[in-house]
Amino acid sequence: MPKHIAFDFDKTLATYNKWEGHDVLGDAIYDMVVLARRHLDAGDAVYIFTARVSERDHSPADIAKAVGAIEDWCEDVFGQVLPITACKLTRFSAFYDDRAVQVIPNQGVTVESLLHRILNVIHHDVGQTTTAIGLVESVESAESIHAALWERCMRAEASLAAGGQPHAKA
Ligand SMILES: [Mg+2]
Repeated sequence: MPKHIAFDFDKTLATYNKWEGHDVLGDAIYDMVVLARRHLDAGDAVYIFTARVSERDHSPADIAKAVGAIEDWCEDVFGQVLPITACKLTRFSAFYDDRAVQVIPNQGVTVESLLHRILNVIHHDVGQTTTAIGLVESVESAESIHAALWERCMRAEASLAAGGQPHAKA
């Protein structure tokens, strides 16, 4: 059964640092493009979900500029134009978005808080001096938690590749 999957544009599919114009777009972010490509190859419908085409935020002329630029970008990157929308459609089964805070359905629990709890358990089980939870407690925003977890994950993978333990410091 084909799925309908939405990918945010700025900071998800394409790099973004600062606003430079409706038709100024960043470079493709390789890993996320590969993921979108995999959905397309599986027969899923992939949408670009971006506020660049939000009628509440932008004039029709500016939206037209954005649509033209994103369609060209899609043609370059995917070899095809993908549908672009700023609306959350009922048929979407998943969103990839750098700003999303994922929630466990019907539980009132975020994936992030669950991660905290898991890291806590890991810490108490392993009892390391440099602890995962210490790492998380030392950062405040979701973005810095993600960055810290990412860094730790990269260190663990590098350590494993070098024949060490996953928790070893680099
Ligand atoms: Mg974004």
